[in-house]
Amino acid sequence: MVQSAVLGFPRMGVLRDLKKATEAYWADKISQEDLIAEGKRLRLAHWKIQKDAGVDIIPSNDFSFYDQVLDHIQLFSATPERYASQKLNILDEYFAMARGRQRAGVDVPSMEMVKWFDSNYHYTKPSFSDSQTFSLAKDAKPVREFLEAKEAGFATRPVILGPVSFLALGKTERGHSVEPISLLSKLVPVYVELLKALKAAGADSVQIDEPVLVFDLKPEIKAAFKPAYEALATAGPEITIATYFGDIVHNLDTVSAFSGLHALHVDLVRNPEQLETVIKALGPKQTLSLGVVDGRNIWKNDFSKSLKIIDAAASALGKDRIVIATSSSLLHVPHTLASEKKLPEEVYQWFSFAVEKVREVAILAKAATEGPASVQAELDANAAAQKSRAESKRTNNPQVKERLSKVTPDLYKRKSGFETRYAQQKTHLSLPLFPTTTIGSFPQTQEIRVQRNKFTKGEITEEQYDAFIRKEIDYAIQVQDELGLDVYVHGEPERNDMVQYFGERLEGYVFTTHAWVQSYGSRCVRPPIIVGDISRPAPMTVKESKYAASISKKPMKGMLTGPVTCLRWSFPRDDVHQSVQAFQLALALRDEVVDLEKNGIYVIQVDEPALREGLPLRSGKEREAYLDWAVNSFKLSTAGVEDSTQIHSHFCYSEFQDFFHAIAALDADVLSIENSRSDAKLLKVFIDEAYPRHIGPGVYDIHTSRIPPEEEIKQRISEMLQYLRPEQLWINPDCGLKTRTWEQVKPALTHLVNAAKHFREQYKA
Ligand code: GLN
Ligand code: ZN
Repeated sequence: MVQSAVLGFPRMGVLRDLKKATEAYWADKISQEDLIAEGKRLRLAHWKIQKDAGVDIIPSNDFSFYDQVLDHIQLFSATPERYASQKLNILDEYFAMARGRQRAGVDVPSMEMVKWFDSNYHYTKPSFSDSQTFSLAKDAKPVREFLEAKEAGFATRPVILGPVSFLALGKTERGHSVEPISLLSKLVPVYVELLKALKAAGADSVQIDEPVLVFDLKPEIKAAFKPAYEALATAGPEITIATYFGDIVHNLDTVSAFSGLHALHVDLVRNPEQLETVIKALGPKQTLSLGVVDGRNIWKNDFSKSLKIIDAAASALGKDRIVIATSSSLLHVPHTLASEKKLPEEVYQWFSFAVEKVREVAILAKAATEGPASVQAELDANAAAQKSRAESKRTNNPQVKERLSKVTPDLYKRKSGFETRYAQQKTHLSLPLFPTTTIGSFPQTQEIRVQRNKFTKGEITEEQYDAFIRKEIDYAIQVQDELGLDVYVHGEPERNDMVQYFGERLEGYVFTTHAWVQSYGSRCVRPPIIVGDISRPAPMTVKESKYAASISKKPMKGMLTGPVTCLRWSFPRDDVHQSVQAFQLALALRDEVVDLEKNGIYVIQVDEPALREGLPLRSGKEREAYLDWAVNSFKLSTAGVEDSTQIHSHFCYSEFQDFFHAIAALDADVLSIENSRSDAKLLKVFIDEAYPRHIGPGVYDIHTSRIPPEEEIKQRISEMLQYLRPEQLWINPDCGLKTRTWEQVKPALTHLVNAAKHFREQYKA
């Protein structure tokens, strides 16, 4: 019999129940017992969904109150001393690590949180000290949750993050020098103890995730697998090693370390081509878990395609040695499609969220076990849905395809080089030395949210809403007049979200009402979905920018989200390459850029904060190919303007060292980047690479409510001037100001403007 398996289920619940409960707990509105009970309720509900769907292998310990990596930090007693010494109860210590704690005399910042592979989920980075020890926590979570499931009648397979990934994904505590992977021999005995405890509790099998296997690994990390898994193999439960988000072919030499283990899981959605190679590398009795149902995207599985893969694996290995599974945990997809009441009917049948995907896994396993005839009705319905999507007018827009086919590389290029452009921009915009500007958004006040809500619900008319937005723009302009900034923004009061706003104005997108996905902790995002060829029926931002320009004394900067960010922060199509989607977005944005220019907007910023996160996980050809299309799509979107129009771009990070060439290749006249929290030394790369264009490294951190003193900003600017030429430097904050209040923004920007004036005086002389 071919078994079905789920690698992990989303935690939030149908209506983001977990978010609501945790936030209520943080706000002292519910007790810790209430929160714990809510966690239990959700776990039981999620196990039931999977059991009812007919899934054979149901995960446990995939639940988390914040993040699964953070769970492991506590599980192995690797809590850094600054939290452990607070003597908080277990759950409060946990949340202190996750999000910092500032109450009752305790003041600790949060641990570092970073992106989980190339997803939009964030994990807490383990941090190891020179005197690091590990021990198994009392009442170990995987055992507790396994038993909880068992008592409720669910046989589950606990999920644990493997020792090599746990260490490799961590870092060295500041001021210490230990190499995380060197701690392996201390950590492995604790894993053995955990597996033995699970076995004693009745767990016959475990899923151990080793996702770092998709990376290029350093030799010492590769070498860690063998000793680790030789030890774990003796502990008791059957072990399935799970990998996802990439192929493991380049690390197959390490997989021999697993040949004594029960099974290996691979992601065949991302990398179906690895199947044959992986099959050859398996031990003679080993099972292969086939990740064919996409854990990262919302498309309905194409059963005929999956069954081909399954057949190939079954004929090579036999039916007893394959398992049908989700490609990764379903953490990255929303809970259920059943909550969506507003999707167009045609589109609805193209999607599967977690609840539906669980069912898909079970159906595929049944088809593989008993033959397709046993699930004929499901297969037919699936084929019909695939056909409807492939043939839909929504998916295919011949005009878009035609236009894209005519794009030639000369469209990526501005008319002239930077020197010529800058000479024209300088006179056209009459900018001073050290021009000041902001990144786009101004405070999104409660009032703005209220009015937007009213408008969405139809409680006020479009004219009323527009009038409200104009009033907000008036205010933003008035403030900028008072502050004396040099390049204005309209403040983005009309935008709910920097991607959704554009998605709603483009053909080819659809929106959900409940399709939330966990981003970090209790924070969820609701990405729009790209379903078809993208086009722009009408200008998207011209009305607001033009109005703002009409009442401004200084140049107004138009504000757009770039093609790669629009793509990355949406659920993309899986039926055409991402580069095609990025280019379609780029053409739509190009028209917008040109329209802004025609309407008197001569500074245009195209934000690309997501450019870097799209970088493929491994270096090499794939990465080069990505950079090529990502950079070209940005250039395609911006190169349609005259030399005298100034193109800006913005990135919310400062680690661009390994990425510098891509950023330089964008050919933007001005770049604004985050810098206030990093060493100004990072700017050295701009000298080393003789970067010719202009840069605004953020001079203050907008992520906190703290108001930066003028002296501090001046200090920051003088540091920057060690690395940048004065005529190259713009003065701006790190990022947009939407999360701040006006009371914070006004003094902060006053200091910023004064600091710029100070240097302007100094350099005039
Ligand atoms: N223009 C956007 C803003 O100011 C940029 C946001 C971002 O970089 N994430 O809010
Ligand atoms: Zn930003």
